[in-house]
Amino acid sequence: MNLLDIFDSNVRKYGNKDFLRYNNQSESYTEVYEKSLQVASFLHKNGIKPDDKVALFCYNTPSFIWFLFGAWRLGATVVPINHKLKSAELDYILRDSDTKLLLFDAALVDIVQEVTFSIPMVSTQGKVSDFFEIDTTLKDYMPLPLSDSFPLTHDSPAQILYTSGTTGAPKGCVMPHFSVYMAAQVAATTLGLSRDERLLLAMPIWHSSPLNNWFGATLYLGGTVVLLREYSPLQMLETIEREKITLYFGAPISYILPLRTVPNFGNYDLSSVRRWAYGGGPISEDISRKISLAYRSNNFYQVFGMTETGPTGIVLYPEEQLHKAGSIGKYALPSVSIKVVDEQGNEVPNGSIGEIWIKAFSCMAGYYKNPQASQDAFTDDGWYITGDIARKDKDGYLYIVDRKKDIINTGGENVYSKQVEDALLLHPDIVDAAVIGTPHHEWGETVTAILVTNKIDPISPDKIATFLGKHLPTYRIPKIYHFTDALPRTPSGKVQKFVIKEQFIAKMFTNGSMP
Ligand code: ATP
Ligand code: MG
Repeated sequence: MNLLDIFDSNVRKYGNKDFLRYNNQSESYTEVYEKSLQVASFLHKNGIKPDDKVALFCYNTPSFIWFLFGAWRLGATVVPINHKLKSAELDYILRDSDTKLLLFDAALVDIVQEVTFSIPMVSTQGKVSDFFEIDTTLKDYMPLPLSDSFPLTHDSPAQILYTSGTTGAPKGCVMPHFSVYMAAQVAATTLGLSRDERLLLAMPIWHSSPLNNWFGATLYLGGTVVLLREYSPLQMLETIEREKITLYFGAPISYILPLRTVPNFGNYDLSSVRRWAYGGGPISEDISRKISLAYRSNNFYQVFGMTETGPTGIVLYPEEQLHKAGSIGKYALPSVSIKVVDEQGNEVPNGSIGEIWIKAFSCMAGYYKNPQASQDAFTDDGWYITGDIARKDKDGYLYIVDRKKDIINTGGENVYSKQVEDALLLHPDIVDAAVIGTPHHEWGETVTAILVTNKIDPISPDKIATFLGKHLPTYRIPKIYHFTDALPRTPSGKVQKFVIKEQFIAKMFTNGSMP
């Protein structure tokens, strides 16, 4: 089972049907098929062999999809890369993944030119600098004869997907073809999708959920994928209306921004959308209600997962959104299992806190070239150890509490950094907050708040502590306050506490002021 075979079978079934829509233009299943054979031929002539890595550093464009299928035909592995990365990070991933050839977006040429790793590189539409441009280049290539295709197996690596780099350097997850197939199939069944689906792909396609769950599900069923080069609130609304979109997936913020920034939001006709899905971060109860009202729909699905699991995991179904808004759900997706466990790996009862473990057919095979980390990531019986801490309510619904790495231990008490951050953000003058543990010779760690405020002068720490006293028990109230202009974030917007810790703790020691 693999998505290339599924794609080829759809070409036979639906040949002339639109597979891709981009910039108001269509590419049918057959046209994308022909392109993929030309790409395969191009890669073959450039020496790409089974198991070689082909990297894709692109916005959402059709050439990304041609390369996906073209590389798979040769048994090569694709490495989709976050297009928001700077050249040093791009360089790191190209080297780490042993990439042999890179397709990059013409708009990103400045970043690519600074990369020192020397491999063949080809640009998407629009010739830039001295690089070959794929549209013109492909004209010289006849489709690869099918007899030259590599026979894929379940275990053949389809992708190396890099994690977001929230807790350290991004890790390369090796995704076998069967895992990618399962991520697609499970998303399609969970939402009850059909072959007349029109997916709006507005989130970056290099990310595992847009790529494997949503692009994958639409491909699996034989639907149509509308590619938005890059998300913008206005384009999201315009495209939904114009293209009669039936399925939308986005990060929570992609639902909030149109409400905040598009003045005539209510004039857009969004009634074609049958299912709305969101994931990657939580939506609070309050926001969840606002969104249901504004988008005039009760058909929202919350999905929780991570790159390592395909990213299949837990879902909060539409009928549960009303009374369990803010939860990540209770039920794992079909064929997936979850449990919430204590330090000994025993399942905790409802009403308690523990770590989420996931078992799914869509999981990675392991981290690329890192057998130790791969072994540590799973239990002996195949559970992926997520590092996410959740609370189970009395009905067994899960609420994310913190990442295990971010829990602060002060005087033997566990403090969940996210709870302190949530309380800090209730303060009208605090616009951003990160809470970390800093070393303390008696207490182990001290709760420390790094804050961005909307005031020119720092707010008095005493006043903040008094404010927090209304919301938190004393041991959770930060003892150290530090003010800054901006928190370090991943390109997808997650706060990188490991960077804050490195910077902050280094400063504490250089000042000789270890408390
Ligand atoms: P790294 O592993 O490199 O530190 P990362 O864990 O942020 O980065 P991803 O795999 O992109 O990389 O993100 C998965 C994480 O995102 C999960 O482990 C979880 O912490 C968070 N997450 C995903 N979905 C949700 C959700 N629906 N609600 C809350 N948090 C979520
Ligand atoms: Mg992670």
